[in-house]
Amino acid sequence: MKLDIQPKYYQAKVTCHCGNTFTTGSTKPEIRVEICSKCHPFYTGTQKATRADGRIEKFNKKYGIKNA
Ligand SMILES: [Zn+2]
Repeated sequence: MKLDIQPKYYQAKVTCHCGNTFTTGSTKPEIRVEICSKCHPFYTGTQKATRADGRIEKFNKKYGIKNA
């Protein structure tokens, strides 16, 4: 077992843009995200958060995904 070649594994504190915090396993001790399960449109049922700045359209365009 060569455990020393593996990155350090943390219970990372994730801080979201919306103010929500939660922990998850990660190789980084602290993570900042812009969207989480609490504010993601898929979970909240609203498109507002990401529609505001056209992030979905940008993403879809970038990866060639046609709007449904
Ligand atoms: Zn959030």
